[in-house]
Amino acid sequence: MSAVHRKTLASLAAVAAAALAIGLIAGASWGWGFFGTGLGALLFHHVRHLSRLARWLTDPARGQVPEGTGSWDEVLTALHRFERAAARREKDLAEALARFRRAAQALPDGVVVLGAGNRIEWSNDKASAMLGLDLRADVGQPVGNLVRAPALAETLGAQGTQELVIQGELGARVMLRLIPYGRTQRLLLCRDVTQAERVETMRRDFVANVSHELRTPLTVLVGFLETVRELKLDPQRQRDYLGMMREQAARMQRIIDDLLALSVLESSPLPAAGRVRVRALLDRVLADGKALSGGGHVLSLEADPHVDIAGSEQELASAFGNLVSNAIRYTPPGGKVRLSWTDGPEGATFAVEDTGVGIAPEHIPRLTERFYRVDRGRSRESGGTGLGLAIVKHALARHEATLSIESAPGAGSRFAVRLPPQRTLPALVAERREG
Ligand code: ADP
Repeated sequence: MSAVHRKTLASLAAVAAAALAIGLIAGASWGWGFFGTGLGALLFHHVRHLSRLARWLTDPARGQVPEGTGSWDEVLTALHRFERAAARREKDLAEALARFRRAAQALPDGVVVLGAGNRIEWSNDKASAMLGLDLRADVGQPVGNLVRAPALAETLGAQGTQELVIQGELGARVMLRLIPYGRTQRLLLCRDVTQAERVETMRRDFVANVSHELRTPLTVLVGFLETVRELKLDPQRQRDYLGMMREQAARMQRIIDDLLALSVLESSPLPAAGRVRVRALLDRVLADGKALSGGGHVLSLEADPHVDIAGSEQELASAFGNLVSNAIRYTPPGGKVRLSWTDGPEGATFAVEDTGVGIAPEHIPRLTERFYRVDRGRSRESGGTGLGLAIVKHALARHEATLSIESAPGAGSRFAVRLPPQRTLPALVAERREG
C-alpha cells in the first residue's frame, strides 16, 4: 500500500474514530454530525489541492509546482522532483543542441540542413553567406526557391549523393554536395572553391606557357640542325648556324634556370636570415649591371647605407639584379640607369630608375605574372624569359618587402623595393668606417 493510500485511510479513520467517540459520549446525532463535518473538511482539502494542481498543469511554470499537506504532500513532492528532472533534461538537451550548432558554425564549410521538400531547417553562417540565405526569414522555404541556380534545381530532384559547382554570392564559385540522410532529410555542404579554381586555371596556363616558351626555341633549334645536316655549308656559314643554335639553347637554359629559381622561391623555406651587407650587395649589383650594359648606358649608384638587411643575400641579389637587368634591357643605348638606396627608421628603399621605353598603365598590375611581357619580341631579343619580375616578387615577399612600379610610355620607369624596418639591422661599425 502506498504512502498516499495510508495517509488518506489514516485521516478517514481518525475522523471516524473521533465521530464514534463523540457519538458514545454525546449521542449518535452528535457523532453523525461530526462525521459529516469531518468528511466535508477532508473533501474540501482534496478539492483545494486538486484545483491548485489543475491550475498549475494548465500553465506549468518552472519550479512552481504547488505545495501540499497530508497525502498531497507525497503527490506534489514527487511531481516537483519529476518536474526538476525534466527541466534538467531539457537544459542538457538545449546545451547539447547549442554545442552542436557551435560545432557546425566552426566548420570551415557551409552546412544547410534540409527537411522534407528540400525545405531549409537550419544553416550555419558560412552557408548563409555563400548562398545569400537569411536564416530567420528563410527557415521552412524550399532551398531551390532561394538559391537561383538552374543546375541546383535539377540536382535537388535527383537521388543519392550529388555534387555540383554553382555561382554563389559576390562572384564566388561554390561547390555543393547534397547528402541524403534519415528518411527525407539531406545535408547541403557548401565550399568556396573560387581560389582552388583560380589555382587550377593558373596551373593549366602555366603548363601551357612553359610548353610554348620551350617549344619555340626548340623548333628553331631543330630547324637549324636539319639545315646543317642536309646542306653542304661553307665553314663560315656553318659557324653562323652553330652560333644561332647556341643562342636558342642558351635561351632554353635561361628559361629552365628561371623556372627552377622560381620553384625554389615558392616551395623552399627561407634560409635562416643572415646579415646582408648592403654596401657590398649594391656594389655587386652595379658591377653586374655595368657588365651587362657593356658601356652602352650611364649607370650610377647613390647610396650611403646605414643598415644591413636580415635575409638571404642570394635572393636579394637576384631580385635587385633582375630590376637592374630589366632597366638596362628596356633602355635604349645611351640612356641612364640610376640605382639608389635610402634608409631610415621606417625601413629601407632600393630604387632603380631608367630613361627607357616605359610601360603603359594597363600593363603595370600584371608585370609580375609569369611570362607576362608588354612586348614579347623586345623581351626575347634582349634575352628575357618573362619570369624576372615573378622571381623579384617572390624573393621580396619572403623578405616582407614590397615592389612599387611607376612608369609611363616613353618616360622611363622607376621600380622601388621597400624593406620594412624589422628587416633592417644597424650596419656593423667597422664596416661603416671602412666605407
Ligand atoms: P622579361 O624577361 O620579359 O624582361 P620580366 O618579368 O623581367 O620579364 O618583365 C616583364 C615585362 O615587364 C617585360 O617583358 C617588360 O615588358 C616589362 N618591363 C620590366 N622592366 C621594365 C623596364 N625597366 N622598362 C620597361 N618595361 C619593363
